[in-house]
Amino acid sequence: MTQHFFRIIQRLIWLAVLASSLCLPVNGAYAQDQTADVLIVGAGLSGLSAAYHLQKAGKTAVILEMSPHIGGRIRTASYPGDSQAEIGLEEFWENNPALEIIRELNIPLESAYTSFSSFYYQDKLYPFTHDSNLEFLESFLDGGEMKAYKKWDKKMVELHRQLAEVPLPEQLAALKEVSFADWIKSTSGLSAKAQEFVRIQTEPEYATSWHKISALDGIAEWHLFSGEGLAPMHVVGGNQRAAEAIADAIGRQNIRLNQLVTHIKSTDTGVEVTATDQAGFQNRVFRAQYVIAAIPLFRLNDIQFTPELSADRKQAIQTQSGGAYFTAHVITDGKASRFWTHEDESVLPIMSDGPLGVIYEGKSEAGQDAILNLLVCGTHAERFNARVNAPDEIRESLLAAFEKQWPGFRPLVKQMTFYRYHPRAIASWPVGRSRFDSLSKALRQPQGRVYFAGDFTEDTHSNGAASSAIRVVEGILQQK
Ligand SMILES: Cc1cc2nc3c(=O)[nH]c(=O)nc-3n(C[C@H](O)[C@H](O)[C@H](O)COP(=O)(O)OP(=O)(O)OC[C@H]3O[C@@H](n4cnc5c(N)ncnc54)[C@H](O)[C@@H]3O)c2cc1C
Repeated sequence: MTQHFFRIIQRLIWLAVLASSLCLPVNGAYAQDQTADVLIVGAGLSGLSAAYHLQKAGKTAVILEMSPHIGGRIRTASYPGDSQAEIGLEEFWENNPALEIIRELNIPLESAYTSFSSFYYQDKLYPFTHDSNLEFLESFLDGGEMKAYKKWDKKMVELHRQLAEVPLPEQLAALKEVSFADWIKSTSGLSAKAQEFVRIQTEPEYATSWHKISALDGIAEWHLFSGEGLAPMHVVGGNQRAAEAIADAIGRQNIRLNQLVTHIKSTDTGVEVTATDQAGFQNRVFRAQYVIAAIPLFRLNDIQFTPELSADRKQAIQTQSGGAYFTAHVITDGKASRFWTHEDESVLPIMSDGPLGVIYEGKSEAGQDAILNLLVCGTHAERFNARVNAPDEIRESLLAAFEKQWPGFRPLVKQMTFYRYHPRAIASWPVGRSRFDSLSKALRQPQGRVYFAGDFTEDTHSNGAASSAIRVVEGILQQK
């Protein structure tokens, strides 16, 4: 009896050793087996879109996501009383390829305002209550200023068209070396007020100073505002709904949460991706034909690559810069809405050009508390992000800024909630670099079986996340 018992134990131990040498994972599936045709690192808009397109093309895809959250920088917070506000992505510009998926999945969209917003300039509010961008401009620029503006905007449209030319015209490529601010000041012919308008409207997009980005990238950004501009779209019920709906479409079982990818090994025949489960710290190897790294480029620094990333790719990552965002949700008494209501109309969003950043309106029931969503950008965001132990100080800074702008607002504030992002929340390219240069192009090429996607490979907006997903999926589908 005892001998029989020992034989069973011996056999179990032997099976366990065999299983571990075969990397038997906890759920019993053999890790040597290919997990899917394609592994995707990151369940942000880029990774989700890539999985969606691959599945439509008949390929299997599994996403490994390090956090417990689906959507990456798409996050919607809800509050008691059915209020909600965006923590991350606020609007999908109408030319965003992600909208195609959103429409295919019948996710309802709304668009309440245009590309330009009301703004404060020298402590005076210029409310946007007009029917068009041009009418809005005419409300604060005189005839001569308007003429110069229209001429400059026309030139910007032409320069933007040339951005698509391959190779980039030499005089355009040279604009990489000059800041957007200096270029506008020296060549635009815009009045000082019009120049400030351009700065105030565009800086929240790249989340840093216009002195810190190249003119080449400024031209790309201005495209959102040229002429009547592009319409910003928002998902009814919160942008998070879009991420959830794409996750449902690709199948939740194909998204493995809490899996921090630490190593990507590529061979002639396939890829091996090692991930650490963040709950139990088990390491597991996943295998596929290809892998898509759909994460911000600076996050690639946390992953070991075999073979190593090429020198130009490393240089591209190290020399890219980033803009900072900090979000604050401010719950106020419903009566506070008088501060942002002009002629019975909400004039939000407002570009505050100060520590309040862009003041958006969250969703709340009529007659209930109101919710504002502050998208704080650039140096103010950097300061708030660095003050991790000082919520009272941040609250006081914001209340003081509100009170200066809207005397009598302070006592109506009931609650504030802060959300931080990585110091490089948004891709940007410093003077001397550009999204159009050869280093950026290097990252848009696969390295063997490893493809690079995510907004940081293309754009400061989620347009880049969505279009990079299409690029890498097309690249993979072309492989035999
Ligand atoms: C506050 C804020 C406001 C914004 N507003 C707008 C806007 O109005 N309009 C707009 O177009 N864009 C906006 N953006 C930008 C937009 O959110 C992003 O461009 C887009 O969401 C990026 O998607 P992505 O998939 O490329 O990256 P992410 O959303 O960052 O997704 C990457 C995912 O990869 C995961 N990950 C990272 N490293 C690893 C690893 N080693 N292993 C496993 N998983 C990993 C991350 O957890 C994350 O979930 C905003 C961004 C912020 C922060």
